[in-house]
Amino acid sequence: MAIVTPIEVAPGARRRLALASPASLEPIGEIEVASREDVARALAAARRAQPAWAGRPTAERAQVMWRALEILLAKQEEYLAVIERESGKPKTDALMIEMFSACDALAYFAKRAERMLRPRKQRLHGILALAKQLRLVPRPLGVVGVISPWNGPFILSLNPTVQALLAGNAVLLKPSEVTPRSGALVGELFAAAGLPDGLLSVLLGDGETGAALVEAGVDKISFTGSVATGRRVAEACARQLLPCTLELGGKDPMVVCADADLDRAAGGAVAGAFFNAGQICFSTERVYVVDAVADEFTRRVVERTRALRQGVSGEFDLGPIIWPRQLEIIEGHVAEAIEKGAKVLCGGRRNPHLAGLYYEPTVLVDVTHDMKIMREETFGPVLPILRVRDEDEAVRLANDSRYGLGANVWTRDAARGLRLATQIDSGSVCVNDMTMTYGAFEAPFGGRKESGVGFVNGPEGLLGYCHLQAVLIDRFGGRQIAAHYPYSAARTSQMQRIMRLLWGSRLGRWLV
Ligand code: NAD
Repeated sequence: MAIVTPIEVAPGARRRLALASPASLEPIGEIEVASREDVARALAAARRAQPAWAGRPTAERAQVMWRALEILLAKQEEYLAVIERESGKPKTDALMIEMFSACDALAYFAKRAERMLRPRKQRLHGILALAKQLRLVPRPLGVVGVISPWNGPFILSLNPTVQALLAGNAVLLKPSEVTPRSGALVGELFAAAGLPDGLLSVLLGDGETGAALVEAGVDKISFTGSVATGRRVAEACARQLLPCTLELGGKDPMVVCADADLDRAAGGAVAGAFFNAGQICFSTERVYVVDAVADEFTRRVVERTRALRQGVSGEFDLGPIIWPRQLEIIEGHVAEAIEKGAKVLCGGRRNPHLAGLYYEPTVLVDVTHDMKIMREETFGPVLPILRVRDEDEAVRLANDSRYGLGANVWTRDAARGLRLATQIDSGSVCVNDMTMTYGAFEAPFGGRKESGVGFVNGPEGLLGYCHLQAVLIDRFGGRQIAAHYPYSAARTSQMQRIMRLLWGSRLGRWLV
């Protein structure tokens, strides 16, 4: 059962896609696919609207975000219903991942954008400071293309849009075709909040619309999705010398030390692996537990996992896999692991009691590092546990990966936690916590290795939607430059004396 199925249309007619619920497999509507021409029209409108928006003070732009926040709080049930219908996720997942984070992103950036985007004086070094002043002025890029995935369809469409708009840009947003209405909510929200026409257009469609957006002539692409598509987007951007931020897949390791609070660590492993049914880029996807505590830790993880409930309505903990192809990937990884000797302690199969795309929460042991389940992004509710000799082996294996998005370390010793965290090659690390770094908006969030390029949050993320223009001002109105020529032997030797003084003497080195 495909969740997104092309509908046959007359030649030359606009393409259409039919959608089904991953929870019930029932039809839930259709979308029209935005064409290259639609993208071009939206871009033209964005270009018309953006200069006036960029000309407004940041505080005024922030007012739109505050209004959007009020509307979101008031209409959250309506918004949640759309997200739940398309993704099947439990209300609490939708509330925590989509709504809570969305409110927090709106408030966090609305409150701080003015300060983060304020032009600032930067002291110059050495003798340059005597003659020049430097101002750093964040200037909007123009029009930003935002392309988002299906796992967090509202927040991952909203957050980059909020930051790009606050920085003075217009946005063309292309949500995933798997969850288009959840992404479209972002457009509805900002229209209701009074965002001027043309500044934000939502373009529904699949990869073809996404590719058209990348090629349309925007000024930046902010992409969140898989490594494979991210690479294609990056290649297209490179050809056009277009900046892009890429937030891609992960295979987050969890390191459990011998001195960890095992109950908390087991709780963290279960929440980290099964939150959103494992469909989070920084889900815990592999555990390295020190031999001395491995049996007890595993026992507690299995006990908690067995208590999890899957369902379609009412109170339940885990929803379906949102995209059918992902379910096949999950099944493939588990099957290969079993074939190579892994043991299933619980789960390990589709849920036979539910019609939708449900995979039971699964714990695996006796895994080895050559299995896909330890190397490829599974993006599902599967937790493989590998017993290691000590923390050094855990860190070595954690780093033996092409991914580097997040990680988590569990220990009672704060110094050990920090030491191990900084030995792991990932964009962010939690100590005695998990899946939190995206929600701490102060923290620049971004992947290393194949997990991405650039940052989405923190001042670094917001400034990523700007060009930081350097304005160098001569303190003497250009008097020295006016006397620049003619060159002479005396001028040359004067310069050489200055160089010797600056970099060849103790006093000079103190000055520079
Ligand atoms: P995907 O790469 O299949 O699709 C992402 C988006 O790209 C969709 O909107 C899709 O329509 C569009 N797209 C497809 N082909 C395109 C093309 N040629 N040009 C431009 N756009 C194109 O990813 P997905 O399956 O929707 O999402 C799951 C992936 O996203 C996982 O790998 C997950 O780890 C990753 N993800 C990363 C983060 C992060 O912050 N690092 C967050 C959430 C999800």
